[in-house]
Amino acid sequence: MRFQAAVLRSYDAPFAVEEVVLSDGPAAGEILVEITGCGMCRTDLAVRRSAGRTPLPVILGHEGAGVVVASGDGPDGTTGVGDHVVLSFDSCGQCRNCRGAAPAYCDSFASLNLLGGREEHTRRLTDAMGGALAPRWFGQSSFAAYALVPARNAVRVDPALPLELLGPLGCGVLTGAGAVLNTFRAGPGDTLVVLGAGAVGLSAVMAAAAAGARTVAVDGNPGRLALAERFGAIPLTTTAGLDERLRRQTDGGAQYALDTTASAPLINDALRALRPTGVLGLVARLHTALPLEPGTLDRGRSIRHICEGDAVPGLLIPRLIDLWQAGRFPFDALIRTYPLADINEAERDCDAGRVVKPVLLPERGDR
Ligand SMILES: [Zn+2]
Ligand SMILES: [Zn+2]
Repeated sequence: MRFQAAVLRSYDAPFAVEEVVLSDGPAAGEILVEITGCGMCRTDLAVRRSAGRTPLPVILGHEGAGVVVASGDGPDGTTGVGDHVVLSFDSCGQCRNCRGAAPAYCDSFASLNLLGGREEHTRRLTDAMGGALAPRWFGQSSFAAYALVPARNAVRVDPALPLELLGPLGCGVLTGAGAVLNTFRAGPGDTLVVLGAGAVGLSAVMAAAAAGARTVAVDGNPGRLALAERFGAIPLTTTAGLDERLRRQTDGGAQYALDTTASAPLINDALRALRPTGVLGLVARLHTALPLEPGTLDRGRSIRHICEGDAVPGLLIPRLIDLWQAGRFPFDALIRTYPLADINEAERDCDAGRVVKPVLLPERGDR
């Protein structure tokens, strides 16, 4: 079958929206999903800075949501034709961490999600001239009208929900909300500092508000700070004396801090503002050394990395949908939709901070 997809052919070129060819239907354990909408995540755009680690040309996109149109497992599969699904990250299902309900720490996470995916997928998807495309990104490659996906990556959702808005629950929203709800297990009486009010940071703010924690959000962009305040956080700018202002707003020190910025100065401000036993979570990849000042890690304080919000997507995504339906997790307010053909405009708006979470909608004239 032939369908529309956004192909990245060079790390510094715009996306090319073009026709691609899928030569085979789903094998056992796979489903073919007609993509209704796909969120754009920072990790998609970071491929441009990945120094050649992600093979090109590639179809990016890993916050897809859509309708199952074919299944390699027949009627016995966990998802069947006609099911509405949200797609999340890929994992092997067999390693020690997968078996321990920690699929975000799958031994094969990097190879399955970032570096090219499962070998059996190679050569099934090509461009219109027959040129090879890199195997699927995050098990999905959802900046496209269709995606061939491992069935274990798909989470079934109620068909009455607005499917085109749900894709970001598979990565960015899950990452921020999961850090608060799964990793920190924040609740009433807890204090949380969120560094960066992008899609991940604002999802953390919303989850903390839903959980009853007191939250302070830090960002240099006044528009994003205003959003953080609307979702229940105390807004603070990134100007001098931040650690002191953080301590003042958290009754002398925060129990939790979540960094989404990878900024060493901001991270150190947050560390200085942690109370004894406080935990700093890092979700953004650090590109520089993180010098730790003496005293920041004493008295039971700790730092840990958090991948994909420590989530089992099949548990956390339905929980976030329940909170959203109860009016306590308004993640849809972060979204602006674009036709897939306008993916380069969406990237520019995202980079410039004009939109928090672009969602790309494939055109439906291709069937
Ligand atoms: Zn695994
Ligand atoms: Zn992502």
